[in-house]
Amino acid sequence: MSTKITGIAASDGIGIAKAYTLVDPDLSFEKTTVTDPQAEIDRLAAARKITVTELEEIKAKALENLGPKEAEVFDAHLAMVNDPDFIKQVEDEITQKSCNAETAQQDVADQFSAMLEAMTDNAYMQERAADVRDVTKRVLSHLLNRPLPNLALVKSPVVVVSHDLTPSDTAQLDRQFVKGILVDLGGRTSHSAIMSRTLEIPAVVGTENATTSIQDGQTVILDGLHGVALAEPDETELADYQQQASDFAEQKALWEKLKDEPTVSKDGQSFMLAANIGTPADLPAVLKSGAEGIGLFRSEFLYMDSDQLPSEDTQFAAYKAAVEQMDGKPVVIRTMDIGGDKDLPYMQLPKEMNPFLGYRAIRISLKRQDIFRTQLRALIRASAFGDLGIMFPMIATLEELRQAKTIFNEEKTKLVEAGVKVGETIKLGMMIEIPNAAIFADHFAKEVDFFSIGTNDLIQYTFAADRGNERVFYLYQPYHPSLLGLINHVIKAAHRHGTSVAMCGEMAGDQTAVPLLMGMGLDEFSMSATSVLKTRNLMKQLDASTLSDLAEAAINDCETSDQVKALVEKLKTSQG
Ligand code: PEP
Ligand code: MG
Repeated sequence: MSTKITGIAASDGIGIAKAYTLVDPDLSFEKTTVTDPQAEIDRLAAARKITVTELEEIKAKALENLGPKEAEVFDAHLAMVNDPDFIKQVEDEITQKSCNAETAQQDVADQFSAMLEAMTDNAYMQERAADVRDVTKRVLSHLLNRPLPNLALVKSPVVVVSHDLTPSDTAQLDRQFVKGILVDLGGRTSHSAIMSRTLEIPAVVGTENATTSIQDGQTVILDGLHGVALAEPDETELADYQQQASDFAEQKALWEKLKDEPTVSKDGQSFMLAANIGTPADLPAVLKSGAEGIGLFRSEFLYMDSDQLPSEDTQFAAYKAAVEQMDGKPVVIRTMDIGGDKDLPYMQLPKEMNPFLGYRAIRISLKRQDIFRTQLRALIRASAFGDLGIMFPMIATLEELRQAKTIFNEEKTKLVEAGVKVGETIKLGMMIEIPNAAIFADHFAKEVDFFSIGTNDLIQYTFAADRGNERVFYLYQPYHPSLLGLINHVIKAAHRHGTSVAMCGEMAGDQTAVPLLMGMGLDEFSMSATSVLKTRNLMKQLDASTLSDLAEAAINDCETSDQVKALVEKLKTSQG
């Protein structure tokens, strides 16, 4: 009998492979007295040798996937394993105390890391304490023969099973081998879920018990379409899912045919479909997705993929690559949205009780204007190479927006005066993610060229439900009549002032929400590249002239999300 694990469907597709559990093994050990210290010293030397080989492999992988900056940390680890002072102290302890290798390695590591941590006036040396602990963990894992999991070492097809997956873990996933992702924590709009869609890896999140129900090496079927996983499936289940996987592939092939077609409804109304990206590495997927532009470039990933603030030139190169590769199609780049679940360790942001309600996004940019101005200069310079729009995340008040615009104008003027070429028109927009911005949309609409509705945050703030917390996922309700009313208010307010409205939250690619949003007159739908063709296919089947009535009925006549869903399903069945 297979074990069934249910969770939240986070990324479409079906993956079947062996489980790779990303869970640290138990590295506890007994302190023992030994009769042959030299044997312990030899055992330790052997463990160090394997550690070096392993670190070199991880470093090579990091170099290939993430670049030289990310790989540097492993040089520090390699230097640490081979540190002669450290080795001598451990060997002396084994000889003098006749203790086992594990005890000596751990004792000396504790002393070294305590000493480094005490250097309060030297942040660099303090950070090395973490390296000593990391390296010791690795050496211990080899002494105890309980290997640590490491995504960089995956070289055969796997379904990654993990308690949590941070955005930086997700950035290391190799699409060639990772056939699925199964996570205990998280919701559909947590950033690991969004990244798995970008990488086109099927994913189920928020299972609560995947890591405790699945053993490393078991066969797992991961059904990202329905939010289910089966461990150790029987032959019938395997055959059934193999069939479903091939049906899904066939459906995708049909959607593929729409790649170069315009996005028009059955009755000839045009809509704009764009894609969301994190870094220029996502551009190839966008180019083959049929997207008509980029509606959201989450620039913070450039900051997260580095161990220091990216320079103006590094950012310029990334933004320029995006506009050039999109070849005249619009590209909207959002200024840094760090904070919430997107940490930047090298900035040492304060630990907060409520990070999603705290110091993040534009709030940081307006305080750390050095960082903000550098980013704006890079963006303004890149605007000379294509159709580039800039938008500000997490705007709550007009004062914030005006301050951001003033800083933008100052940097633009300086660049123009210095003779730097800039785009003729750089469109400026803001995200609508905070209920206050949505309610006050009429006022904001007068001061920007476009809105982009960030429903991932707008929903979490409207329902007061953490987007990454699977226990409150039931409150992620994109079809709730009140939320639809709020979105409709934003769209109508914008249109009264000639401001266009995009949506770049996950709701924009939600197949139940799309007909409602079309009915409200949303101008642009920006989504994971993988959802673009599926959405174009849906739009082609709908009669747009009937959809404003649908949206009105959902907002005015329904009381629950389920009622709205039923209404949309009924219409889709009658038109599809
Ligand atoms: C959103 O909040 O909907 C959004 C698109 O931004 P992010 O998911 O990066 O917070
Ligand atoms: Mg957001």
